[in-house]
Amino acid sequence: MAAKLLDGKDLAARIRQRIAAEVSEFVARSGRAPGLSIVLNADDPSSASFVRGKDKAAREVGMVCRVHPLPTAVSETELVGLVRGLGDDPTVDGVVVQLPLPHKVRREGVFEALDPKKDVDGLHPLNQAALWENRAKLVPCTPAACLRLIAESGLSLAGALVVVVGRSALVGKPTAALLLAADATVTVAHRRTRDLPSLCRQADALVVAAGQPGLVRGDWVKPGAVVIDVGLSRDSEGKLRGDVDFDSVFPVAGALTPAPGGVGPMTVAMLLENTLLAARERVQCWARGTNADSAKD
Ligand code: ADP
Repeated sequence: MAAKLLDGKDLAARIRQRIAAEVSEFVARSGRAPGLSIVLNADDPSSASFVRGKDKAAREVGMVCRVHPLPTAVSETELVGLVRGLGDDPTVDGVVVQLPLPHKVRREGVFEALDPKKDVDGLHPLNQAALWENRAKLVPCTPAACLRLIAESGLSLAGALVVVVGRSALVGKPTAALLLAADATVTVAHRRTRDLPSLCRQADALVVAAGQPGLVRGDWVKPGAVVIDVGLSRDSEGKLRGDVDFDSVFPVAGALTPAPGGVGPMTVAMLLENTLLAARERVQCWARGTNADSAKD
């Protein structure tokens, strides 16, 4: 039997529709739209296309979105200054710094400059720590998307063995934290893992974020397993491909995300959820008289 297709586009469209209604309510109550600011390294062509998608999606649900393209050869000091300025701007609720950063800029310095309350990608060290302590409010978007798609498959994570392929700070590690919090037994694999195919074959669910087109093949997958493909890179012919070899995995898996059209659109939907959440939290702060912006002065 072929896998259930986990259509991220369709699920994301439904989530965006709900968010649009919630944004209207937010506007009616607070008198302003949630604001999202995206810092773009314009020299990176893939970033430019991802950011266009985020900008369009935010506008379509009624948010105010501003894109800040970085000048070529921007210094770390300038970028940190920009990010701090967005933290201080009362019209901004969410800040995205689209990665990769320009050459020579340390990402740690930039992540630390984010206002943790506006850090809708969950990159600030305080938010990363909160994730491992099960108390994160702003959960990183791609990991959140992976969990939603697994939920959509119907797999119960409690006690399930999940193998996460990739240990990046952005995807692999935070996804492992969320899976642990959902009571899964989690193994994080990486470039140095021995016999990755047989490890993967034991998994009830696979989350693959290795950036290697077609890495996971049908004979790596336990029949009926849920397979979430985070990877999206261009193969030697310039075609966008996921880390999972769709054609050989589809007949074996129980559920599978397409790539593109799986995790990507869901990541954008999670970003909108986080932005709305951040906006609501900030408005509640004002209502309680603890204006986070003026408290800084
Ligand atoms: P992403 O942003 O998708 O997480 P990164 O390039 O930051 O991608 O990280 C890729 C991760 O995938 C690394 O942790 C690396 O160890 C892992 N990885 C890359 N290639 C392989 C491979 N062939 N087998 C197992 N893990 C791999």
